[in-house]
Amino acid sequence: MSRIAVIGGGIAGTTAAVELARAGNKVTLIEKTDTLGGNIKDYGCKAVDKCIKCNLCLVDETIIAAQNSPEIEIIYQGLVNDLTGKPGDYNLSVEKDGDFVEVENVESIVLATGFVKWSDLETGTPEFSDDNRVIWASQLEEFMRRRADHSDPEDILKFGSKPNSVVFIQCNGSRSIQEKARYCSKICCGYSYRMARVLKHFYPDLEATIFFIDLQEAGYFLDVNFAELDQAGINYVNCKPIDVSKVDDKLRVLYENQQEGRMETLDADLLVLSEGLHPNDVNERWSMLFNMQLDAYGFLYPLVDEEETGIYLAGSIKGPRDIAATISDGKRVAYRLLKQKQLCKSGGLADV
Ligand SMILES: Cc1cc2nc3c(=O)[nH]c(=O)nc-3n(C[C@H](O)[C@H](O)[C@H](O)COP(=O)(O)OP(=O)(O)OC[C@H]3O[C@@H](n4cnc5c(N)ncnc54)[C@H](O)[C@@H]3O)c2cc1C
Ligand code: SF4
Ligand code: SF4
Repeated sequence: MSRIAVIGGGIAGTTAAVELARAGNKVTLIEKTDTLGGNIKDYGCKAVDKCIKCNLCLVDETIIAAQNSPEIEIIYQGLVNDLTGKPGDYNLSVEKDGDFVEVENVESIVLATGFVKWSDLETGTPEFSDDNRVIWASQLEEFMRRRADHSDPEDILKFGSKPNSVVFIQCNGSRSIQEKARYCSKICCGYSYRMARVLKHFYPDLEATIFFIDLQEAGYFLDVNFAELDQAGINYVNCKPIDVSKVDDKLRVLYENQQEGRMETLDADLLVLSEGLHPNDVNERWSMLFNMQLDAYGFLYPLVDEEETGIYLAGSIKGPRDIAATISDGKRVAYRLLKQKQLCKSGGLADV
């Protein structure tokens, strides 16, 4: 019996797999790690007094549905090694535990192998990376995830001691020619704002400062009143700091006060570096194996119509997007694929 192969078990691939299985298709989901969820599996809830719409909640249900679906076979720790065949009847060779598994009679393929975080890249290593007061946003996400099981009110996020001041530096690994990422990663303005809110909730006296180049408007600031944030001790400063140095037990941030036109410093106990979304290295291989095109940054887009080849791209493999946009894209791809199948069956189109 023919099947659909989905490569990558992040939220894009898992959403597409569940939608396709619900429509009665056999799906083989190939994930290179031993869990589903992708990059978001280590993130935590950012609710304080109320839900703050980070959209993480949207994910668990889909992962459970994929794990429980009799129509979905999941190959964990699988790496696609080769593709043979033709549109409508592909074979995939998958390397698993040193052996090769053949996935045969594959009528369509969804490629959803996502992105890598800036902190996963060698070039992303910050100065003072050995200092535990300098952390990546993804590490703060892990703190957020663990906060529920910690009882010391002074150290609810397990920093070791109560921080009095925190600085967020935005746009790391994005909006930079030097870092080969001129694009905006779209998600870091939102998560930094949410994480600052959580920190303020647990440490009301905390001074939080967010240094930003630009604010991504993607819905995050709908309910934000910046004057109120300022009064609450979350300050937005419009510039990228020039330098960070260690002075006594503080981290000293040097920046240009653009309104006053002079250099100033700000001391912090904790420095959070936002991190952007970068193309997965595997994209280069996929471009050759699946006949896709790399864009100027290394994300993928189809060279020919996906309906013609039966090979579709879903989620952040195509470029930065948040969870909601990724889920929508996973569903949209599944819908397009199902529509194509219907057309082929009804004879409306030549079978691919
Ligand atoms: C620090 C940080 C915080 C964020 N916070 C938020 C937030 O609060 N809200 C929000 O909406 N978004 C947030 N995002 C964005 C969110 O992470 C993405 O929207 C989402 O992860 C995209 O999902 P994806 O499935 O496209 O990719 P991924 O999550 O990257 O999933 C890709 C999957 O493919 C697998 N894979 C990779 N290569 C292969 C291969 N060769 N073979 C097989 N499988 C492979 C991976 O193991 C992974 O499971 C955040 C991002 C970062 C970096
Ligand atoms: S995980 Fe995100 S969406 Fe869910 S309750 Fe927490 S803040 Fe709200
Ligand atoms: S989302 Fe915000 S922090 Fe991230 S790259 Fe875009 S402007 Fe910079």
